[in-house]
Amino acid sequence: MNKKFTIGTFSGIGIYAHWTLLVMLAGIFGWFLWTSFSLTTALAVVVIVSALFGCVILHELGHALTARHFNISTLDITMYPIGGVARLEGIPREPRQELLIAIAGPAVNLAIAVVLFVVILATGGTLMPAPFVETDPNVLGLLMWMNLALVGFNMLPAFPMDGGRVLRAGLASKISYKNATRIAAYVGQGMAVLFAFAALPIFGGFNPILLFIAIFVFTAARQEAAYVLQEQEQA
Ligand SMILES: [Zn+2]
Repeated sequence: MNKKFTIGTFSGIGIYAHWTLLVMLAGIFGWFLWTSFSLTTALAVVVIVSALFGCVILHELGHALTARHFNISTLDITMYPIGGVARLEGIPREPRQELLIAIAGPAVNLAIAVVLFVVILATGGTLMPAPFVETDPNVLGLLMWMNLALVGFNMLPAFPMDGGRVLRAGLASKISYKNATRIAAYVGQGMAVLFAFAALPIFGGFNPILLFIAIFVFTAARQEAAYVLQEQEQA
């Protein structure tokens, strides 16, 4: 169930795609082929989604290379349908280091969005993204907005997502690491519950990816908090 496929290696860090991501891409391809009857549209959508995942890989490399700066190595980077995970060897206890590692990821997406913005303006393109199904999708505009969405979403205080790490680092510079983790984990679980509500078909369509993120954040927040609290008890 844990089968992964190698995407490549960057600066000694292996980058992999979990099999579920490939199933999702195949599903997207099939769905758009089925609904649009156009091979070009289906391929274009898969290329755009793959480009978005490419931006997520750069985001994870942002975390990994910043962590390396603080002598923390990254075991690998794996891409899942809900996003990427850089497995760092450890999380620094120094709030400033955790903060910098956490914001490095969203900072990469912000930089990509700025570059795309400049390219779009320089080439006289339009900033408004056209829907996927149009024959001439505004790929650069779409990717720019998706990168901005990645920045916004990742900076939500949903510990252990990036914004939640920023929150813990901020709290840990004022109160004990243990209490900072406890508060960040509670806020993270609260955010996960909100994600779950937003994902259910109460306010709109059903969003399975957001539901998986909600479950992931909820359990990961509890696990990491339990780990820190137990470690502090032993110390
Ligand atoms: Zn991140």
